[in-house]
Amino acid sequence: MNVLRNWLKPVIILSVAVGISGCEVQAEEYLVQDQDAYKEALDKAGPGDVIKLANGTWDDFEILFKGKGKKDNPITLTAETKGEVILTGQSNLRLAGEYLEVSGLVFKDGYTPTSEVISFRQNKNNLANNSRVTEIVIDNYNQPERYEVDFWVMMYGKHNRFDHNHLVGKRNKGVTMAVRLNTEESLENYHRIDHNYFGPRPILGSNGGETLRIGTSHHSRKNSFTTVENNYFDRCDGELEIISNKSGKNEFLNNTFYQSRGTLTMRHGNNNLVEGNVFLGNDADHTGGIRVINAGQTIRNNYMEGLKGTRFGGALVVMNGVPNGPINRYDPVINARIENNSIINSDNIQLGAGSDEERSGVPEDSTFESNLIYHDDGRDVFTIYDDMSGIDFKNNALVGEPSPELKTGFNVQEIKLERAENGLLYPNTNEDVGAARNLKVTTKDMTGVSWFPKAEPLIAFASGKTINIEPKEKALSEAIATAGAGDVIVLAPGNYVANKFLKLDKPLTFKGEGEVNLTFERTAMFEILAGGSLQLINVNISGDDSPDYAGNSVIRTSPYSMLPNYRLEIIDSNFRDIDTNHSFNIVTASKGTFADNILIKNSKFENVSGAIFKLDKESDDYGIYNAEYLTIEDSSFKNIGHALVDYYRGGRDESTFGPHFALTNSSVSNVGKDKRNKHKASIYLHGVQVTDMTGNTFEDSPAFLINHTVGEPKTRITNNKFEDVPSPQVFELNSILENTAIIADNQGLNP
Ligand code: CA
Repeated sequence: MNVLRNWLKPVIILSVAVGISGCEVQAEEYLVQDQDAYKEALDKAGPGDVIKLANGTWDDFEILFKGKGKKDNPITLTAETKGEVILTGQSNLRLAGEYLEVSGLVFKDGYTPTSEVISFRQNKNNLANNSRVTEIVIDNYNQPERYEVDFWVMMYGKHNRFDHNHLVGKRNKGVTMAVRLNTEESLENYHRIDHNYFGPRPILGSNGGETLRIGTSHHSRKNSFTTVENNYFDRCDGELEIISNKSGKNEFLNNTFYQSRGTLTMRHGNNNLVEGNVFLGNDADHTGGIRVINAGQTIRNNYMEGLKGTRFGGALVVMNGVPNGPINRYDPVINARIENNSIINSDNIQLGAGSDEERSGVPEDSTFESNLIYHDDGRDVFTIYDDMSGIDFKNNALVGEPSPELKTGFNVQEIKLERAENGLLYPNTNEDVGAARNLKVTTKDMTGVSWFPKAEPLIAFASGKTINIEPKEKALSEAIATAGAGDVIVLAPGNYVANKFLKLDKPLTFKGEGEVNLTFERTAMFEILAGGSLQLINVNISGDDSPDYAGNSVIRTSPYSMLPNYRLEIIDSNFRDIDTNHSFNIVTASKGTFADNILIKNSKFENVSGAIFKLDKESDDYGIYNAEYLTIEDSSFKNIGHALVDYYRGGRDESTFGPHFALTNSSVSNVGKDKRNKHKASIYLHGVQVTDMTGNTFEDSPAFLINHTVGEPKTRITNNKFEDVPSPQVFELNSILENTAIIADNQGLNP
């Protein structure tokens, strides 16, 4: 072995002899220190050679890795030490050629200047084939603007492998990873996507939050032959498709979907196999399983537990299709094999879903056999929307209420379940139903890389230390400056005046001990910045010291687009005299900001000149909105000039589960009468998907205005008391059908 070290040049070459099929070839190892040295090394590199990027930070490095390796002797690009080469700024990676292998690099603290971070092509004419990307990390490498689209990984070409990678924190619009079939050179590609850790992807609040897509509707009747196996999808919550399959002959094998909202959707393409996958919902909202569309799909030996998804997002959904429809519509389900799946404590199996005048094609020539369906609470989990005589139901075991429409093929049994060593539940009898006992579950530690932590995505409120403060000047801003994420700032009794904006870039709790009064001298008290979240407990806030301007807010979000989602909780607190001038709001959201959760509990709001919640800044009708959940419990609202909430989600696409609105056990009195209240409503909900108002008292206020825009929104207004409030106005803006709101068992409403 000949080791050459030349410290004057940034390239260090290590030459080693390796044997290829009997003949000796000199393989070189290049350790490069800068971008020029990399280019120089690449020019020289041939089969078997290894280029190593030196440890450290590489800024603005657009790597083009182009060359021709040989089978079993690829050209390799890797890190001097895996995990210690960080690509930042505006860096990306393109591969082009044959038999290339890349490993060990980390992309973070930046974003791609193009639309892709890793691309298996240089350009349209130069693709990568027989190449592999392994042990790469992409961590929160997002465009600064939330709704600017990019993609983290795009596979082109044929016979490529993407494995043991770690992708976490995609927060801007655009699918995390896609396989493209856009040219002849990328069809029938036999790619393999395996052992990757698809880490948490937060709710996007718009279409374009899929984690993996294979194909597009345009090429959907072509075959891809892509295998997706042994991957771990951890809380991939971007939108309602976790995986969007849009091509034929793909295989989805032994993947784990851990508490991920959405489904593996077989949106387009025929003859796909979905086998041995494990879906664990943990009873979280909108966790789903598999949605079946098109011909020749096999759904076999999958395990679903604790999935709470409804409608198209259920545990198992078999759609109706459009007979002889155009390529972008749903094709009918023909010749589907749905066998030996376990569907346990999961709320919804939907058959013939989407049935309407256009989607009239029912499933044909299909079987539903040897499945185990079990629900603890004994409910009927089936919803049947159309004629299911095209499905042959055989030998299924059912523990729960049988569906009256499914007369044969289900044995109603008294099976007990026991948890096996692989973590899954199986019958304590020898029934040959449900998923196989030897199903090998892909666990988190089997995926991604060993040298990069699979960190928890959120820092919980009150998970840090306690900081005690007294009421003196700057006490609040000084406490914020020294606090760490998750800390609790405990306020001793007294009066606190904030003379600066209290800017939060970490989750913090402010907790009053005894009588704590807060006022503020700027146009807002709290401003939630990227990374910030706010919890208020037991404080009194008034507008007594606020400037005499229109449009103040107690709490507002950053005026700029914000990638991280925030949380806001207001508990046991009082807001009064927020009325220094007109249109003074409690919470104002800015465009491009998104709340995962806003919770109000046991709090009082009195004499407010503006709205309590302004969540209506995404007014472009792109299907974007400002908050996923707004939940109000046991609270009161009195003398509020504008609406209790202006909540807006425009557009007609059906890609999001939210927004959600819940108002329970609260009282609303004299809300919304100000002449500047734009919609003249006490509560304005436009495009909200799930609304639940129950156990409230409404008095002396204008009517609610509720616009249904897409899908089948669920609106329930029940068991409330109305006094001097007109009936809620509910409009179906895009449906000719009667509106679907349930308004029942209320007192004081004119029917
Ligand atoms: Ca979508």
